Amino acid sequence: MDTEDRPKNFIRTFIDEDLASGRYRGVSTRFPPEPNGYLHIGHAKSICLNFGLAKDYGGRTNLRFDDTNPAKEEVEYVDSIQEDVRWLGFDWDDRLFYASDYFERLYECAERLIRDGWAYVCDLAPDDMKAYRGTLTEPGKDSPWRGRAAEESLDLFRRMRAGEFPEGTRCLRARIDMASPNINMRDPAIYRIKKAEHHRTGDRWVIYPMYDYAHCVSDAIEGISHSICTLEFEDHRPLYDWFLEKLDWPQPRPRQIEFARLNLEYTMMSKRRLLQLVKEGRVDGWDDPRLPTIAAIRRRGFTPSSIRLFCERIGVAKKDSWIELEWLEKAVRDDLNPAVKRVMAVLDPVRVVIENLPEGREERISAPFFPDDPDRMGHRDLFLTREIFIERDDFMKEPVPGFLRLSPGREARLRWAAYVKCTGWEEDAEGRVTLIRCQLGQEPTVVDAKGKPVRPNIIHWVPAPLSRPVAVRLYDRLFRVERPTGENLDSELNPESLVTMSEARLEPSAGPVAPWDRFQFERLGYFMVDPASGRDGGPPLFNRIVALKDGWVRKAGRKRNRP
Ligand code: ATP
Ligand code: MG
Repeated sequence: MDTEDRPKNFIRTFIDEDLASGRYRGVSTRFPPEPNGYLHIGHAKSICLNFGLAKDYGGRTNLRFDDTNPAKEEVEYVDSIQEDVRWLGFDWDDRLFYASDYFERLYECAERLIRDGWAYVCDLAPDDMKAYRGTLTEPGKDSPWRGRAAEESLDLFRRMRAGEFPEGTRCLRARIDMASPNINMRDPAIYRIKKAEHHRTGDRWVIYPMYDYAHCVSDAIEGISHSICTLEFEDHRPLYDWFLEKLDWPQPRPRQIEFARLNLEYTMMSKRRLLQLVKEGRVDGWDDPRLPTIAAIRRRGFTPSSIRLFCERIGVAKKDSWIELEWLEKAVRDDLNPAVKRVMAVLDPVRVVIENLPEGREERISAPFFPDDPDRMGHRDLFLTREIFIERDDFMKEPVPGFLRLSPGREARLRWAAYVKCTGWEEDAEGRVTLIRCQLGQEPTVVDAKGKPVRPNIIHWVPAPLSRPVAVRLYDRLFRVERPTGENLDSELNPESLVTMSEARLEPSAGPVAPWDRFQFERLGYFMVDPASGRDGGPPLFNRIVALKDGWVRKAGRKRNRP
């Protein structure tokens, strides 16, 4: 149980206190997704926290589907959630549970509450129930059914279960306090009638427990010590404790602890909105690499370790905040930098003819795959040929001040190779450059006004005849506003969030590539071969995982607390 080197946070402090006081002998947590959507990076934070804490304290974590709402749940989600948790690197062993496993037990507990006078069947229509509830500033009113005898409630509850009443005509409520300043304590519903097919229990049940009730009892059944949830449940904690107290649940009872949910700038985490983006075809399915879902992140090429690193770095807090996207991107870069090979690719190629290199000649150049650690994985051979491709924007017919790449009469340095000086160019009728002519030299020859040699910038290149055609997808933030609400997708979505470069070329030493292979393309960022690449018989398809640094932020001139 070595938790010394872990960053302290308030949850760990609580756990340490609980272990020291003997309240709990060990740590048991759970991750409780509702199977009504795909997991996203916010869930990843909760997963890392729940599984991470249990691991650090030598405890265990259950995966529990909170499947108490039959109308919105689907088996597709149950499967994807398990895949995603596993992919993140966590394991629940044989502890896969469903709240629906406890339906019978939950029902029995509810009967007990009725018998003990802590619950009653209420016949108010849903609208009336709402009106009787009061507001934040006004107390609620007692339901006319609040005084119903336990015997009668029990009988009605059993008949609710037997399907005698239509939906919305009755519900089971806790008898707490309609004047409580905490609205959650104003006789909340415990069971409602719902004649819907459940993905696991079929049509066996026509009444379903409410979340607040099912959650604490499920935690208690599983012997959870610390029930970690997001801040919006803070006001529900008295209810969580109330149910277990009134059920006289044996100690130690689970302790609910709340933390601030993850909000990520330029992204949206609401399941409802994500579903809308998918349904309206604004993205290409749940795993569109622009989405914050785990499926999308995986397809984009993020690694599980980078997500864990990100979650560790952002930590947990007790106050809601928005995290800058750069934190995620930085974690991915830090994770990939030592792990993936560097090669060169040209995304928007323009042909360059090196006039002093004879046709058919291949100048062999040796370059490391890992420039920071050159001995690793040996070297790759680059071949400089008479015709090469460079990036279109590494050439300017009329260079702007400070442009130190290729332009007429000026030089650039080819990565791992020599200097090329531009001697001319050709363009088409629209003024688009079609060819650049150069002379190769070992030393820079251009001098500035004071006669000092100009040190040009380094540009990347690939040999024209030997390079491979590839397609590359470049992703930008899905939203153009920092904190999207999703209310006006037309104006909030970034119309340039996906750009496909279909004429890109890859250096030959990258070898045959397969789905999931990752590379750093020098100067351009980290890329992964799309899982579906090659299926259509076309050239390999790469997704850009992340650029090398965040040019967008620099352009906007923002200076903020960067990772
Ligand atoms: P819903 O509105 O459908 O309840 P949800 O995002 O809360 O959506 P759940 O499946 O209930 O989804 O969430 C499972 C767990 O993940 C919960 O414990 C929840 O608190 C946590 N969680 C959800 N969103 C975030 C987030 N953005 N940051 C951290 N934890 C989150
Ligand atoms: Mg939820």
